[in-house]
Amino acid sequence: LVHGVTDYIEGDIEEARQKYPSPLAVIEGPLMAGMQVVGDLFGAGQMFLPQVVKSARVMKRAVSYLTPFMDTTEAQNKKGRLVLATVKGDVHDIGKNIVGVVLGCNDYEVIDLGVMVPADKILDAAEQQNASAIGLSGLITPSLDEMVFVAKEMSRRKLQIPLLIGGATTSRQHTAVKVAPGYTGSTVHVLDASRAVGVVSALLDPKQRESFCQKNVAEQEKLRRLYAHKKTKALLPIETAAENGPPLSFNSENVSVPSFLGRRLDQADITELRRYIDWTFFFTAWELTAKFPAIFEHPEQGPVARELYTVANELLDGMVNTNALRACYVYGFWPANADGSDIVLFTDETRTREATRFPMLRQQVVKVDDAPYMCLADFVAPISSGVRDYVGAFAVTAGIGADALASKYASAHDDYRSIAVKALADRLAEALAEKLHEQARHDWGYENSPSLSNDDLIAERYRGIRPAFGYPACPDHTQKRALFDLLGAEEIGVTLTESFAMTPAASVSGIYLAHPKARYFNVGRIGSDQVHDYARRKHTSVQDVERWLSPNLNYEV
Ligand code: SAH
Repeated sequence: LVHGVTDYIEGDIEEARQKYPSPLAVIEGPLMAGMQVVGDLFGAGQMFLPQVVKSARVMKRAVSYLTPFMDTTEAQNKKGRLVLATVKGDVHDIGKNIVGVVLGCNDYEVIDLGVMVPADKILDAAEQQNASAIGLSGLITPSLDEMVFVAKEMSRRKLQIPLLIGGATTSRQHTAVKVAPGYTGSTVHVLDASRAVGVVSALLDPKQRESFCQKNVAEQEKLRRLYAHKKTKALLPIETAAENGPPLSFNSENVSVPSFLGRRLDQADITELRRYIDWTFFFTAWELTAKFPAIFEHPEQGPVARELYTVANELLDGMVNTNALRACYVYGFWPANADGSDIVLFTDETRTREATRFPMLRQQVVKVDDAPYMCLADFVAPISSGVRDYVGAFAVTAGIGADALASKYASAHDDYRSIAVKALADRLAEALAEKLHEQARHDWGYENSPSLSNDDLIAERYRGIRPAFGYPACPDHTQKRALFDLLGAEEIGVTLTESFAMTPAASVSGIYLAHPKARYFNVGRIGSDQVHDYARRKHTSVQDVERWLSPNLNYEV
């Protein structure tokens, strides 16, 4: 069990069952003792997540072997029951699954409600199941607001149990400033899966609870005080910032005409995508931090990474052979120009009818040097220049079939492969985005080299960028609606949730900008003047903009 070997588990368990007074005694005796060792080694940093997940697989297979022999009234004495869920509008899954497995290994009962779960469903489950704590997770910024809402609902429903907050978009600061004040119980930010057990055991242990909560509250108060101090930054008026954009030229040197206009849609060959995979991120999903391929020689992570890599490649072989996963894409090019800080895409070369318009945001935080105040629209030739410029757009997915395949493994008690499948689907989507971008540069005619190495691609040693809505240069997730309409992206099987997350989760979308000077940046804090201007350009209300861009606001609403 400690080594995660399933080969003889049924035989071993049958032997144990005959020796022990009851099946439950086998679980609570040798199996729990084994999991204790796993938990301790993991806690001490001597075991890594993939190994813990492998051990969990042995535990689950053992328990499932014993279950038919058990009296229905016999129940394991768990240390506590947790309800985990990804909040409404969000599809983040892998991190939450890993947390669930790790907690399960440590003798907690985990009720995982899955993704896109509305507040009332989470709280109903917590009440009905008499949960000891609730864990919320989220990946995209709109989920932060939803977490605040869940916290307030917990207060309204007079819940007292601890609330755990996790996922890529969350932070200690947001938890302290926005979530915790809305809830009367304890609210704790959990940085990653390896911290989850420590936090949960402190919260649920009557001996540790009080001092842990006191420390947590004190830290959150400190964070709120810090936040109150650095709340506002010096901003330029938006007109001044716009006058100080990057000075770019648009001419035949840096503007190219794509070989086709409009969109193209097709299915990608998984075999071809494999060489585009950025494996470093695959290992990151398992909290293995070393870089690929050096990770294989890493003194501690090496053996774990090698084994995981072997399994991942077997899974990829399987996906290819059984067609279990489908990867699809749609991309295209449109005549385009900048109109102020909007990027306007036209239906055709007459440039008279707009296909769509992407209002963009500009940096406003005062810079010490005379660096330009960036906006993505600056990388497209202004209408007034008379230059015929172009912009591309894309959406890809590798998630079709991924959930079904992952569920197949999960129901066979194989979380190791179930999580690996989801992580691989994410990697294949990113790989397809990379490959399609390369194709787009060839279509655009400005990159003629046959094919760059994967290292060059990962390091982005090429001309042009593919900004994705929701990322720092264009943090407004709602723009994905216009992007999807332009592309007809639903035709490849991707849809948007009410928070504008893409589902299936293994999907990527964005626009292509080809100017050699185009680069990624962070819009950062914006002022009320820009919010008003942006609302006007987007034909929406100021309140609406403030809601979707709340992490970027330089003021309180
Ligand atoms: N090799 C990585 C590539 C994805 S991360 C992987 O396999 O996961 C890089 C992508 O994130 C970029 O291609 C772009 O689409 C997006 N991105 C990164 N920084 C951005 C920014 N500041 N603004 C907008 N999009 C950004």
